[in-house]
Amino acid sequence: MLQIKSFTFNPFMENTFLLFDETKEAVIFDPGCYEKAEKETLQNFISKEGLNIKYLINTHCHIDHVLGNAFVKRQFNVPLLMHKNEVVVLKSVSSYASNYGFPAYEETEADKFIDENDQIEFGNTILKIKFVPGHAPGHLVFYNLDANICIAGDTLFQGSIGRTDLPSGDHLTLLNAIKNEMFTLPETMTIYPGHGPETNIGFEQINNPFVGKRAKF
Ligand SMILES: [Zn+2]
Ligand SMILES: [Zn+2]
Repeated sequence: MLQIKSFTFNPFMENTFLLFDETKEAVIFDPGCYEKAEKETLQNFISKEGLNIKYLINTHCHIDHVLGNAFVKRQFNVPLLMHKNEVVVLKSVSSYASNYGFPAYEETEADKFIDENDQIEFGNTILKIKFVPGHAPGHLVFYNLDANICIAGDTLFQGSIGRTDLPSGDHLTLLNAIKNEMFTLPETMTIYPGHGPETNIGFEQINNPFVGKRAKF
């Protein structure tokens, strides 16, 4: 049985997710931990549960999602998986980290590129992948059909969507990707976004002001 543990880290209130199953193998998505206490919170949970971390995965590489990359790679000796279009996004983080108040940010690099044709395997669990660009050029979302869950990063939020005014963001690309890719997922699937509370596909298909039935898109 797939389990999800969420943490909300850093001043951007970013959601970091840890997925694990009965084998105790686990993957970490978007570690936003920066302060010592945040890193300890993550580490303590992993130790307490006796988890064996297999991969570090970035849905995309904005600063709030990668602040803990270096810590996780070092602490658990795991490879970083991400889409190749995010290389430039990740590289640029060190150029603005100090201005955003994160002078101790440490750079990391991808160890393996993944895309929508790959799947992530750990323990008895398989995660499938969809390519949902627009908020970021190489944004991926990860879903599991048995547990009916999706790790959505900054694509679809409860009642909103990811901002597209950042460099390499594109509003229409995001709207199309959510409609054509995410809205093919089961209506009942729970969405775990990079910020804010959970939602599900069916609720957003109807109510989301940007991509729902009532939106003028
Ligand atoms: Zn983002
Ligand atoms: Zn974010």
